[in-house]
Amino acid sequence: MLIGYAIFAQKDNDSCMFLSSDPNWPRCSKCGYTRDFDYVSPLFKLNKKLHDISSTYDDKEIVTLRFKEFCVRNKYKGVVFKELPNDPGFFKLEVKNIIKFDTEKTKLEHYKYCDKCHNYASITPAFPVFLKGINKPLDDGFYATDIHFASGNEKGPLFIIGIKTYEKMKKEKLKGIFFDKIEQ
Ligand SMILES: [Zn+2]
Repeated sequence: MLIGYAIFAQKDNDSCMFLSSDPNWPRCSKCGYTRDFDYVSPLFKLNKKLHDISSTYDDKEIVTLRFKEFCVRNKYKGVVFKELPNDPGFFKLEVKNIIKFDTEKTKLEHYKYCDKCHNYASITPAFPVFLKGINKPLDDGFYATDIHFASGNEKGPLFIIGIKTYEKMKKEKLKGIFFDKIEQ
């Protein structure tokens, strides 16, 4: 059964959120990776503004005002837009509606646990992925997984949307979004 769609953006905005030149960036003193994955650097600069959603090299999703207005118009709750300090009209996307990963059904590969910041250096799910306690299609809206994936500073949740949300997004013709079916 189709329950929703994972959304992805290409890493094509030629920008990096975590900059070693940023003295305020909170990093783990042991592994060196970020301690705050939601940190927005005051030095951040969006170098390429091609799409309504794009990803930085360290995998942070950046969206346009058009994308934000689509969410506001649809009254989606739990979607946070942090305006970029040097790029007005562009926002870092965060989603606070957390759904749990079924770690028994989904095979996870992880390595190098840091006992200081309690993060793995790398964690990757094997597809297909399974969500816990979800046995019907997700309601119209945005969701994020509890487990953060990828390596180092690139780790972040998987963003998932409802089927209706997918249909609305298609109609809206937002640029730069890739969809992947989530079936349970
Ligand atoms: Zn660490």
